[in-house]
Amino acid sequence: MKELIILGSTGSIGKQGLDVVRKRNDIKVTALTAANNVKLLEEQAREFKPLIVAVLDTQAAKDLACRLSDTYIKVLSGEEGIIEAAQSRGDTVLSAIVGIAGLRPTLAAINAKKTIALANKETMVTAGEIIKAAAKENGVKILPVDSEHSAIFQSLQGADEKSLNKIILTASGGPFYGKSEEELVNITAHEALKHPNWSMGNKITIDSATLMNKGLEVIEAVHLFDVNACDIEVVIHRQSIVHSAVELSDGAVIAQMGTPDMRLPIQYALTYPERGECFERLSLSKMGTLTFEKPDRKTFRCLDICIDAINKGGLCPTIINAANEVAVDLFLKEKIGFLDIPQLIEETSLAINSKQNFDLDDIFLADKAAREYVLNLV
Ligand code: NDP
Repeated sequence: MKELIILGSTGSIGKQGLDVVRKRNDIKVTALTAANNVKLLEEQAREFKPLIVAVLDTQAAKDLACRLSDTYIKVLSGEEGIIEAAQSRGDTVLSAIVGIAGLRPTLAAINAKKTIALANKETMVTAGEIIKAAAKENGVKILPVDSEHSAIFQSLQGADEKSLNKIILTASGGPFYGKSEEELVNITAHEALKHPNWSMGNKITIDSATLMNKGLEVIEAVHLFDVNACDIEVVIHRQSIVHSAVELSDGAVIAQMGTPDMRLPIQYALTYPERGECFERLSLSKMGTLTFEKPDRKTFRCLDICIDAINKGGLCPTIINAANEVAVDLFLKEKIGFLDIPQLIEETSLAINSKQNFDLDDIFLADKAAREYVLNLV
């Protein structure tokens, strides 16, 4: 029996992770966490009976403790509570908090020697080297959940490590594919939240619309697969059937395909190296045509902003990630326009000093400085 902790169980990935658990009889949930959605967390706690639940918001945690007072479930609160949950009983952690908020709990789980099923890409973007070093030191596996990275990982099964020539990272292109810059000026949050193929949390949905998500994924892939950004080709694939591919030294291209359903990569990370249940079969003949083309990097500038940041290295990925987190939040609150997102990220990346050698404290200092800078600009 696998014992599973889900960080961010009330989110899009967290809920789909619990769906995977429902299909299996070999996974027991031991801890669940949320920021403040105690209504859903209570329902999840009653259904899955974990030992621990943790809520970031202390008031909400008190509310949850009252709601669960007829059970033996321990209720923890604050970031410390989430970290305690991440280190509590369990062998695997599904890291599904959104944003850099997932970094400390994920690192705590690695230090507690848990296998990590990693959805929280911002952890890798901001602290890739620190995370990899901690995983190595603790003998911990980091298994990708992001569908593209899972596809790359799956495509590499059985391939000699040295034979990887290039990663082909696919992107749906988001809801504004084909639009010109002028057409993007008055885009509303409501329009940007309508992703053509995937149903996801708000932040990643906006990141998909700006192509920031693809840029963050390039950085994530650099760390996960030990390649350079120039070894990754981003290809627009509107149908989201080929989840990504690898080109090997002899020119063979191996891809992983499937319907756009996050439960497949989540399940693979939880059952690796075994294969689990099928959620939905793919019919290629029903699909008909699959298309591939180059991204419009001029209109969707966030992709190159990310590539530039990983090429510069140091704290640059942390700075652009923080600026993006704040900009997306402001856009969702209708305080800035869609095209202000790349603009604010770019201005912040030019203004905040990066350094090449850094530790965890430096990451959080740079994150704070970038956030403040964006807020001062608006
Ligand atoms: P959601 O916004 O749907 O869920 C986020 C989860 O994290 C919720 O449980 C939320 O709690 C919790 N949370 C939010 N802020 C904090 C915080 N400061 N501290 C602790 N917990 C917090 O996000 P997604 O599930 O869409 O995404 C999660 C991660 O997975 C992201 O990094 C994303 O990039 C990545 N990912 C997501 C995919 C998807 O299909 N959704 C696909 C591939 C990767 P509450 O509900 O109480 O707010």
